[in-house]
Amino acid sequence: MSHSSPVWHPFTQHAVQGETPTIVRGEGAWLEAEDGRRIFDAISSWWVVTHGHRHPAIIAAIKQQADRLDQVIFAGFTHPPAEQLARRLVEITPPELTHVFYSDSGSTAVEVGLKMALGYWLHSGENRRRILALEGAYHGDTIGGMSVGERGVFNAPYDPLLFDVSRLPFPRAGAEQATLDALEQACRAEAIAALIVEPLVLGAGGMLIYPPWVLAEMARICKAHGVLLIADEVMTGWGRTGTLFACEQANVVPDIACYSKGLTGGSVPLAVTMCRREIFDAHFSTDRRKTFFHSSSYTANPIACAAALANLQVWGSEPVRQRIDDLAAVHARALDRFRDDVRFSNVRQIGTIAAVDLEVGDSGYLADVGPRLYAYFVGRGLLVRPLGNTIYLMPPYCSTAAEIETVYQAIAAAPEALAR
Ligand code: PMP
Repeated sequence: MSHSSPVWHPFTQHAVQGETPTIVRGEGAWLEAEDGRRIFDAISSWWVVTHGHRHPAIIAAIKQQADRLDQVIFAGFTHPPAEQLARRLVEITPPELTHVFYSDSGSTAVEVGLKMALGYWLHSGENRRRILALEGAYHGDTIGGMSVGERGVFNAPYDPLLFDVSRLPFPRAGAEQATLDALEQACRAEAIAALIVEPLVLGAGGMLIYPPWVLAEMARICKAHGVLLIADEVMTGWGRTGTLFACEQANVVPDIACYSKGLTGGSVPLAVTMCRREIFDAHFSTDRRKTFFHSSSYTANPIACAAALANLQVWGSEPVRQRIDDLAAVHARALDRFRDDVRFSNVRQIGTIAAVDLEVGDSGYLADVGPRLYAYFVGRGLLVRPLGNTIYLMPPYCSTAAEIETVYQAIAAAPEALAR
C-alpha cells in the first residue's frame, strides 16, 4: 500500500508501519506478493482459510455455481445451495439447533443473534432487554458487536451509538468462580435477555483460554434463570479448538450459535446464525410486529452457499480431523521451548490455536510492540499479526510441521531482533 492509494485499509496506523505487501496469489498455506515474495500465512488470513487458500474442491464448486446462478433475492425466493446447506448444518450441529439464518460476516451473525434474543423475549411477552458479556470480549465491529465487545480504543469514538451491557470478569485461571458468581448475581438482579460468549477462547481480546467446565457452568446458570446463551463461534468454529465447535468440549448446546470465517473454508464471505425452535417460533407469525426484521442484499448468496457445501464435503472426504490433531501436536511440541524462557510468558494452546506473550517488562523497550512485531514477521516472509505483546498462531490445517517450525524459530528470535 502506498500513501497515494485510495484504499482505506482497516487499522491504517498499523498498516503503514513497515511495508504492506500487495498479494496477487494464494495457494495452500502460502501467499505470493506482486514482487514474487512468498509469505507463509500463519494466521489463516484472519482465521478464515481453514484448509488453506484456493482449495481445489471449493474453487470448483464456486465456479460451477457461478455458471448457474450467481445471486438471487432471498426474500420470498429460495435456491438449492441455501436449502442444502441449511439441512447439512442442522445435521452436523446439535439437534436442538433447528433453524439457520444467513448473513455475510461474523459481525452480522452476532448482530442477528442479539436481535433474535431480544425479539424472542419481546414476542414471548417477557420484558428482558439486558445483555451480558465477558470483559475483554470481541464480537465484531457493527454497533451490536461493538456494544457487547470490550470498550476500548477501537470503539470509544462511537460511544453514543453503543448500548449498555452488563459485564462479567473473564474467567482467569484460579478465579473462575468469580465469573460464575457474577453471572449468578446478574441473573438474580436484572431481567437478562442473553449472555453472549466466545466459547473457550477470548480471541481478539488476547487469545485467552478458559476451561470447558466454566462454559458448562455458565450454560447451567443461564438455563436455571431462563437466560439465552449466545455462542459466538465465529473464531472457534470449524475445528479451531480441536473439535468442530468449541461448545462440544463442554457438552453445551447454546440457544443461538454464530458461525462464519471457516464456514466456506475461507473462500468467500458467508455467515449463519443458528437457533432453537422456540426462538424461530416466536418470530413465525402472521402478526407483522413479530417478523424478524433483518435482511441484506446478499443474504444466502448462492455462490457462498455452494462454497460452504463444498467445504463440508472436504471435511468428509479428507482427513481434516487428523490434520487438526497433528497440527495441535506440532504446536504442543514447539511451545515447550518457551516454557522456561523468561523472555516469554503465558504459553497456551487449544487445538490449532497457540499463543505466547512477549515479556516487555517495565523497561518499555518495546513501545508499540504489536506493529513492530508484525513488521518483523512480514520481513521474514511470515504473516503473523500479534495482539499487542501476544503472539499467536492459527495456521491453515494443511500447514506442515516444517513450516510451523519456521514460525516458531522466528518467534524465538523476535526479542533479540526487536531489542536492536
Ligand atoms: N466474533 C468473533 C469471536 C470474531 O473473532 C470476529 C472476527 N475476528 C467476529 C465476531 C467478527 O467477524 P467478521 O470480522 O467476519 O465480521
